[in-house]
Amino acid sequence: MGENMVETNAEKRRENRKIRAERKKRLHRILAMVCSGVAVLTAVIVIAALMSGDSYKDEKSFQSYAASYFEEESTTKDVGRMKTVVKYGTPLSAAVEYPVTGEKITDTYIRDITGSLEKQFREKHKKTGKEEKVALLLDYNSYHTKKDAVGIVFSEEQRAEKDKNMETVSSQVHTYNFSTETGRPLTSIQVFNPGYKKQCSAYMLDYFEKNYPDDLVKGYKKNLAGSEKNFNKYVLTDTGVTFYFDKGTVVNAEKGMVSAEIKYTELEGILRDKIEVKAIDPDKPMVALTFDDGPYPATSNRILDCLEKYDATATFFELGQNVANYPKVVKREAELGMEIGSHSWSHPNLKTLSAAKVKSQVDKTNRALEKACGQKASVFRPPYGNNCKALEKHAKAPIVLWSVDTLDWKSRNAKSVMKVMKGIKNLDGRVVLMHSIYDSTAEAVEKMVPWLIKKGYQLVSVSELLEYRYNETPKNGKFYGYGYFYLDQ
Ligand code: ZN
Repeated sequence: MGENMVETNAEKRRENRKIRAERKKRLHRILAMVCSGVAVLTAVIVIAALMSGDSYKDEKSFQSYAASYFEEESTTKDVGRMKTVVKYGTPLSAAVEYPVTGEKITDTYIRDITGSLEKQFREKHKKTGKEEKVALLLDYNSYHTKKDAVGIVFSEEQRAEKDKNMETVSSQVHTYNFSTETGRPLTSIQVFNPGYKKQCSAYMLDYFEKNYPDDLVKGYKKNLAGSEKNFNKYVLTDTGVTFYFDKGTVVNAEKGMVSAEIKYTELEGILRDKIEVKAIDPDKPMVALTFDDGPYPATSNRILDCLEKYDATATFFELGQNVANYPKVVKREAELGMEIGSHSWSHPNLKTLSAAKVKSQVDKTNRALEKACGQKASVFRPPYGNNCKALEKHAKAPIVLWSVDTLDWKSRNAKSVMKVMKGIKNLDGRVVLMHSIYDSTAEAVEKMVPWLIKKGYQLVSVSELLEYRYNETPKNGKFYGYGYFYLDQ
């Protein structure tokens, strides 16, 4: 087990502040002595600045306040060149450091991230009185990694003035890993093997029990369990993967946010050998094949064989009860990088159910999916395409319909399915509905996939289609209906 515990930022900062305060006192004494005889103007100015406490009062002093904040942070900045933007204002000021990597797509994402963090900060404190002072201080670490990725961690601190001193009111970290191939942020599915959270859980339980026996909080086991809400904050570095744990969730709150690293040597079986990236060209046509009602081993596997052969991606909207019966098929889907969607537990018309029952259809299926492949559904398709308010509230995923109905369930005939496809002039941007439970559909897929590739279509998941074709970041609970997936109408 690796023993590399990264010191917590809060701890480090407290330490640094103490050192600075002492240094300040000493300097103050020396300066006072120097000035006792002659009034040296510059020294007076320095003393005035020191006497005003750990705060700022105008643009210039905020700049030096921010500069000393960034200075006392010990950071790793391996990637890109650092850019600093300092905006003084009353009552809100912001000092932001971020990397410019030179990779256009990554840099666009980074600017979006810092921009939205600043926007959230200003929104949160918009009722602050004119005479008050609140500051956003955003710093970062950036890492080259042993994978085709760069890791970037933003540490955000918000401070407010109290008794002429700026005090921390909130601090958190935001982690990102960018593919060096595509420039885009990587998802856990691309980085880790299915079921990785269970292994991380075992590792971290052991780690914290060994290293923090006296500091563990009540409920630490739950917060280190291999469940959906844990292990989502991590960054790849040059030596391993560092996971971050929110303040007070694992060890005592006084320790602030803690992080712990698992070395690459310890990550075998947890991390993918090669980060799963597909080079999707947004300028070329793309289509999303989707399969409902599975998994059903015989036909699902036949479809997967074909997709694997052609290195194609599709989305499987699975029924929870089938997932529970045939978990191995779902595991294979995840391993092949297919998108896993939910199609409810037992295929009811969700419109006719109570909100509580809708929620249980969603949650039960997610639990079965997590058990089968270590991840919950990233998209949801309601049975019969019947969306409802309760679903939007509880889906915990984007709600996605389709724009081509192959009627495979009706014809049960591969030729008819192909005829529907061939009848559509432009399939770019379309979501194609099929069902993974018919032999005829599997047969159709074996014709359709090579045909689409030959025609120049990229076969992508629904989420990829949203992102690359529609420039839409898929949003949980948002309804993407029949009318959404058309480019030519
Ligand atoms: Zn269905």
